[in-house]
Amino acid sequence: MRVRRDTGMGGRMEDCIFCKIIRGDIPVARVYEDDLVIAIEDIAPVAPLHLLIMPKKHIANSLDLQPEDDALIGHIFRVAATIAREKGVAADGFRIVNNNNAGAGQSVFHVHFHFLAGRHLTWPPG
Ligand code: IMP
Repeated sequence: MRVRRDTGMGGRMEDCIFCKIIRGDIPVARVYEDDLVIAIEDIAPVAPLHLLIMPKKHIANSLDLQPEDDALIGHIFRVAATIAREKGVAADGFRIVNNNNAGAGQSVFHVHFHFLAGRHLTWPPG
C-alpha cells in the first residue's frame, strides 16, 4: 500500500510548519489540546482573539478530507464551541474560517480553522 506523504501542494508532511508545532519541534503555547487536535494563537492575529484549531493528522485542506475524517471535523467544531465558552466570547459571537487553496488565502497547507472573536466581525469578509 502506498503511504500518502504529499501535502497536496507539492510540499512534504515533514516540512509542514503545523506538523512541526504539533510534534513539539517548534514550541508554542497550546490554548487547547486533546488526542485529536490542538489550538494555538495565530502569530499574526487579525482579531483580539485569533486562534488556529487544527487536527494532529496531516491533511492539506478540505479537498483532501476522507469519509473517516467526518468525526474529526465535527469534533473541531465542538472544540471551537468549548473554547468560545471558556474564553467568554460565545454570547458576543465568534467566527470559524477555513481557507482552501491560495486563491482563498490559504498559506499553510495543513487544514486548520481560524477562530476569530473579540471584535465586531463584518460580512462579507474580504
Ligand atoms: P491560512 O492563511 O488560512 O493558511 O492561515 C495560516 C495562518 O497561520 C496565518 O494566519 C498565519 O498567521 C498563521 N501562522 C503561520 N505560521 C504560524 C506559526 O508559526 N504560529 C502561529 N501561527 C502561524
